[in-house]
Formats: sequence, structure tokens, C-alpha cells
Amino acid sequence: MKVEQWGLRVPARQGEAMRQLLIREGSLDASLKVLREGSDLILPLMGPRESAGRYEFEAQPGKESLPRHELVGGIAILQEDDPAGAVKILASRPSLHTVVFAKGEVSGEYRTRELTILAGDPTTRTQVTEHGHRFMVDLAGAYFSARLSTERQRILEQVQEGETVLDMFAGVGPFAVTLAAKAAFVIAVDLNPEAIGLMLRNLQLNRIRNVLPVLADARRLPAILPWKSDRVVMNLPLAGTDFLPDAFRLCKRGGMIHFYSLVSAEGEHTARIEELGGKVVCEHEVRSYAPGQWHAVYDVRTG
Ligand code: SAM
Repeated sequence: MKVEQWGLRVPARQGEAMRQLLIREGSLDASLKVLREGSDLILPLMGPRESAGRYEFEAQPGKESLPRHELVGGIAILQEDDPAGAVKILASRPSLHTVVFAKGEVSGEYRTRELTILAGDPTTRTQVTEHGHRFMVDLAGAYFSARLSTERQRILEQVQEGETVLDMFAGVGPFAVTLAAKAAFVIAVDLNPEAIGLMLRNLQLNRIRNVLPVLADARRLPAILPWKSDRVVMNLPLAGTDFLPDAFRLCKRGGMIHFYSLVSAEGEHTARIEELGGKVVCEHEVRSYAPGQWHAVYDVRTG
């Protein structure tokens, strides 16, 4: 039987090391066979991940295939309302405490999803470990995406010791907590009180003392923030370029803005960025969203 699932393409010589890493993370789908394509291996995953794509795998003989799902901490998220499948997932994965059904994509101002609990503990709260940091998340109450973990590390590599950072749409604080390791100070803003509550918990969990959580509408920041930052993170992909002028006001000259946006063409926002006095130093796809649409990040040097 062929099963369509997420897969990670790696050169065959790196296959075993990556397979072991995925097993340790609990993200290898052991019910499916590894695929070989030329000199590459494609390792079957339990859910989406940076650089992953969709592939057709053969089921492992004797192993019952599980319904397609995504893992966030101790919760499995199904795209189908499949209570029997949920029970199977829970039984086959001792690290999970809950299986939920997500009715659609994230929506609304807070970018949350409508979830129904299918099996396990009646909670949408769970703890996620990411690059040595721990995050308490509530999948129904505030946005969190494990798919952005590589992106957070990419930005961390660019941060210079002593920088000031502004995260305009900080959620439960994953960028803020990650960047606080190198930055002198991070201001982390969100409109959702539940996100800010979880962020405080995450600052405690990770012993962070240089992040200022702010419960506010980012639109108010230019009026209330008395200083400009070296770096601004703008992770609200559906807002298009609405907040870009504010980000330029809040960033020092020669600073950097990381602007995330849902796009359907390369360079879609370049003209607007240049009009505001910025220079795109890098643009790349963060993840695909729908056919012909993807989340892109623009790294923008302010003029
Ligand atoms: N950066 C976080 C992360 O990676 O997990 C969260 C990103 S999420 C896509 C966008 C966040 O922006 C949500 O937590 C939402 O509550 C917040 N938000 C939406 N509109 C806002 C606004 N006008 N001002 C401040 N925060 C806002």
C-alpha cells in the first residue's frame, strides 16, 4: 500500500545520522519504508518540518499505518475527524498525552485554530522542546508553530552580541526567547493576553531576564516606544505590507527587519520595501502554504 506522507530528502551518506536524530526527536514515521531516489534517501516523517516535502511511501510490512498527523510537544494534530485513528496514534506513541482534530488553518487576529479533542487528556496545553529551550504552548489559545524552529536559529546566527531586538508579533515568545541568548534586550509584543501569559511562563522556564513582554497592538508602538531597535522581527504573514512603515520607524538606520509574508511571486514586496528606503538582502521561502502560495521571509537592511 502507498501512503502519502511528509518526507525529508537527505544525501544517502547522511541518511543514518539523520534517521537516528529523527528517532530521538520522535518524528520518524516508522510505519513507512525509507525511499531511495538516485543518491538521496527520503526519510518518512510524522509531520511537516523545515525543508520537508510530500512523498509517496510504502508501508512497512507488519506495521499498521497511522493517520496523517503533526506533532507539537505531547499533542498529535490530525486533519481528519478520526477518533479511531486518534486512539491508534495514542497507543503507538507513549510520549503523547492528547490527540486533537484541527478543523482548519489558523484564523482570526490571534492566529489560533479550532481544535476538538479526539483522545487522551482533555487539554490543548503542552510543553515543546526546541534547540534546548522549553516552551509552554496552548494550541487553542495562542499561535505556535514548530515549523519555524530552523528560521529562529537562522536569525539567531545573524544577531550580534549587545543588539536590541523588537519582536512585533511575538506570540508565546519563541523568537524572543531564542534571540535573547545573544541580544542585550528584546521587546516582545502581542495583542493576545493568553500569548503574553504563556510568554511570561516561557521566560521563567528558560530563565530569561532580558525580554520585556508587552501586551499591545503593534500599531501603537511608534507612539509609545521611546527608542529604535537594531533588529525587528515581523512574523504576521497574512498582514502583507501593512505594518512595514511602522517597522521602519521602529528600526535604527542600517538595522535589519525580518519581514514574513504570504506571497505568490518572488519579489512581490521588493518595490514597496525599496520605496520605504530598505534594501532586500535576502528573500527565501519558509514554507509552502497552498498551491502557488508560500510564506516568504525578506531580510531587509534599513537605509
Ligand atoms: N512570532 C510568533 C511565533 O513565531 O510563534 C507568533 C506569530 S503569529 C503568526 C502572529 C502573532 O501576532 C499572534 O500571536 C497574534 O496574536 C499577534 N498579533 C496579531 N495582530 C497583532 C497586532 N496588531 N499587534 C500585536 N500582535 C498581533
